[in-house]
Amino acid sequence: MTVMGRPATAGIGDDREGADTDVDVSWHAVDASEALVRLGTGEGGLGGREAAVRLARHGPNRLTPPARRGPLARFLAQFNNILILVLVAAAIVSAALGEVVDAAVIVGVVVINALIGFIQEGKAEQALNAIRDMLSLNATVIRDGERATIPAEDLVPGDLVLLCSGDKVPADLRLIAVRNLQIQESALTGESVPVVKSIEPVAADSSLGDRTPSAFSGTLVTVGQGTGLVIGTGDGTEIGRISTLIAGVETLTTPLLAQMATFGRWLTFGILALAALAFAVGVWLRSFAVTEMFMAAVGIAVAAIPEGLPAVMTITMAIGVTRMARRNAIIRRLPAVETLGAVSVICSDKTGTLTRNELTVRDVMTADGAYEVDGTGYEPVGSFKVSGAVTNPTDDPVLMDLARAALLCNDAAILKQDGLNQDGGWRLEGDPTDGALVTLALKAGLDRGTENHAAPRLDVIPFESDHKFMATLHGGADGARRFLVKGAPERVIEMSALERRGNGDAPIDAAEWHRRIETMATRGQRVLAIAERAATPDQSTLGFEDVTSGLILLGLVGLIDPPRQEAIEAVRDCAAAGIQVKMITGDHALTAGAIGSAFGLGGGPVLTGRDLDRLDDGEFREAALATDIFARTTPEHKLRLVEALQSTGATIAMTGDGVNDAPALKRADVGIAMGNKGTEAAKEAAAMVLADDNFASIARAVAEGRTVYDNLRKTVLFLLPTNAAQALIILVAIVAGTALPITPVQILWVNMISAVTLGLALAFEPGERDIMRRPPRPPREGILTGYMVWRILFVMVLLMVPAFGLFLWLEASGAPLEQARTVAVNSLVVGEIFYLWNARAIMNPVISADGILGSRPVLISIALCLVLQLAFTYLPPMQRLFGTAAIDADDWAILAGFGLATFLVVEAEKAVASRIRRRGIERRLRKA
Ligand code: ATP
Repeated sequence: MTVMGRPATAGIGDDREGADTDVDVSWHAVDASEALVRLGTGEGGLGGREAAVRLARHGPNRLTPPARRGPLARFLAQFNNILILVLVAAAIVSAALGEVVDAAVIVGVVVINALIGFIQEGKAEQALNAIRDMLSLNATVIRDGERATIPAEDLVPGDLVLLCSGDKVPADLRLIAVRNLQIQESALTGESVPVVKSIEPVAADSSLGDRTPSAFSGTLVTVGQGTGLVIGTGDGTEIGRISTLIAGVETLTTPLLAQMATFGRWLTFGILALAALAFAVGVWLRSFAVTEMFMAAVGIAVAAIPEGLPAVMTITMAIGVTRMARRNAIIRRLPAVETLGAVSVICSDKTGTLTRNELTVRDVMTADGAYEVDGTGYEPVGSFKVSGAVTNPTDDPVLMDLARAALLCNDAAILKQDGLNQDGGWRLEGDPTDGALVTLALKAGLDRGTENHAAPRLDVIPFESDHKFMATLHGGADGARRFLVKGAPERVIEMSALERRGNGDAPIDAAEWHRRIETMATRGQRVLAIAERAATPDQSTLGFEDVTSGLILLGLVGLIDPPRQEAIEAVRDCAAAGIQVKMITGDHALTAGAIGSAFGLGGGPVLTGRDLDRLDDGEFREAALATDIFARTTPEHKLRLVEALQSTGATIAMTGDGVNDAPALKRADVGIAMGNKGTEAAKEAAAMVLADDNFASIARAVAEGRTVYDNLRKTVLFLLPTNAAQALIILVAIVAGTALPITPVQILWVNMISAVTLGLALAFEPGERDIMRRPPRPPREGILTGYMVWRILFVMVLLMVPAFGLFLWLEASGAPLEQARTVAVNSLVVGEIFYLWNARAIMNPVISADGILGSRPVLISIALCLVLQLAFTYLPPMQRLFGTAAIDADDWAILAGFGLATFLVVEAEKAVASRIRRRGIERRLRKA
């Protein structure tokens, strides 16, 4: 590792006066050691107290969000809508024609509509902002001489930040140590090829892309490691200066919403044309008065255009996103909400996602001995046993060599915590595999401080899934130097020439070691091999060529990682939901097979990365479809698997955590990154982040995605027939030459209350009980299927006939026009209320829906709707505004009767349609 000369500054927590934190310096032109001096940073980083002082002075490391549109601007934006413009025009024309009351009502309704849109949009935005906050960034720093993870917002100039591959650079940094560090700076410079970093100063006037000793906030580390000194935070960073806030979550739109918006626009134009035609027919063929016909035409337009639909759909999506977040699935790209519901294959990592990621060493094998180790979690308490009898580990020098190497070639720490938790008060900082090895060494009686002191680390090759090992170079008391290696056993055995025995080193018996590996892997253990090799005294850096041959194998360790119980159930749920689950792991095939069988996976053979490499494209596709478990894979295999599965028409969700998983995550239909163990690079590429890394959360997100899609459909199924019924009533009245059963302002009223009370209730509907017992939705199936069109037309007639019929009947029996109209309007609304119950389940009988009484939002919206309807009918000011009149109790009874009939007829239709559909499926299955 390239490291700058030691800074000539004082140490930890040194509250330095006069550090250059407020001065604009070209830090890339300043020597690294000088930068440390000028920023007042000691070897152990800043002290906590000094950091707090600087935080108070510089403010949090956060970009000022772009100025949001003010409330007035957002309210006015609601009027940027063709329907609203039509209504405003109608209000002006009615006012000009002397219909002042009508004009006022139209204006009132328009304003209320805009207000509701405004509030809903605000709610949806709030939901997304809350989610954005959940994706906040952490940074690894050295403070008070200790490594610590802190929120990136708390970084201050002078902090020492550690970077490794996959990290997002949390602030502007002057690098002071790098090891093969490469950073992708496209967020800032547009250049997509990663920049190789160094610590040597460059000219003060270098462009951003040439500032090799700088790391810029918001860019991604693709390879290597480094340490940087914070030189700029918040708006003082380069990205802050160009003020391109890279939002974690996009604006509230998805392909489906966009598609619906387009559909809505065409529908609006169609309806306007129809209204114009009706106007012409009425005036010329039926000789209605122009004023009356104009208002009727406006009535048709208002009635037929589903103005509430876009807002309700948006809020349905937002509710879905919030629900998913509550269940640990954080949506980064909104289209994923829709796609999740169509997922047919989930490709999942093993460690931590299907298993608990709480590793414990259970077996250790050396050339001469086989040990069992007991104890649980990371608590360093447990004994070594040989064939059941406790033994003293220090009696076996090979075992102690192995434990020492496991401790030194390791980046994790086990910390004693105050207070008790499940691990007996021990907390892991770092990778769980490494943590388990630290615990093993402590159980063997080693002390970290003593060992580190005796053999200080000089250089490191960090573990990566690609090369599958970690190596370190250490100094020693007598000037002797040593390489230590731990990693996937096949890999380490390949690199070893000798094995260590009690009586000295001997040529390696690779076949015997492979047999041992198999024994451990068949028990479901994750196996690591540990090896070492002497280095020459002048060796000060470590390269791949130093450790890829001539190692002396010390032995094997086998770690257990119990499956997550809830993940086992979730895999079962996925199977019932027609979703295939595939495990893709870097682990050994036998380990993967043993763990997979706990999940009911692995009916066929386990394929390894090597097996896959031998297949041509066709064979690869078949293998991808037929195999459940893929072992010893690299991130490239993940990408190939996604592509192969997609080419069969499947919709893929793929998990990943490493920087190299990014291409596969981007390519998958739903890329899923791990929130805890995932790198920032993976999160950036993913559409969804799992806050708890748990497979069960994926299955829940799929169920939620299906529910959202269902609820969107339910909303469409509910709102469109209502609109269509009203438009039809007026059209028929014009063509038949009768009085209008509903006036345009009454239609406005019905539309408004049905969209904001009843229609909105469906956005909150919980998933139907069989939501995870149906096959996935075909990805290309639109929201409006042929069956849905039929249902819309069917219900349209069901709603229209009683309203029109009652109106004609009351008119014929001599009731005043106002009363007949009030009954017609109430008939529509009561019909809608009953139909809302039907709409809670698309195909299932609503009796089977959870809680026959309906969910709370349904009940609240119905109560609200009834209160409004009573006001509409009985309050004198409303009667004046809307031209309504009081109706009798008998009328209500008749309306309820018709409503109930509508409900029962729709339930009967559902039953018949389900039976026909089931027969169709069976017939198709029989044919297949
Ligand atoms: P997944 O999370 O995708 O299920 P994995 O995490 O099990 O896969 P990798 O992390 O790629 O897969 O690990 C592959 C192998 O590398 C492991 O079986 C183990 O032998 C070895 N290994 C894992 N972690 C380390 C580590 N920190 N140091 C050295 N070797 C490791």
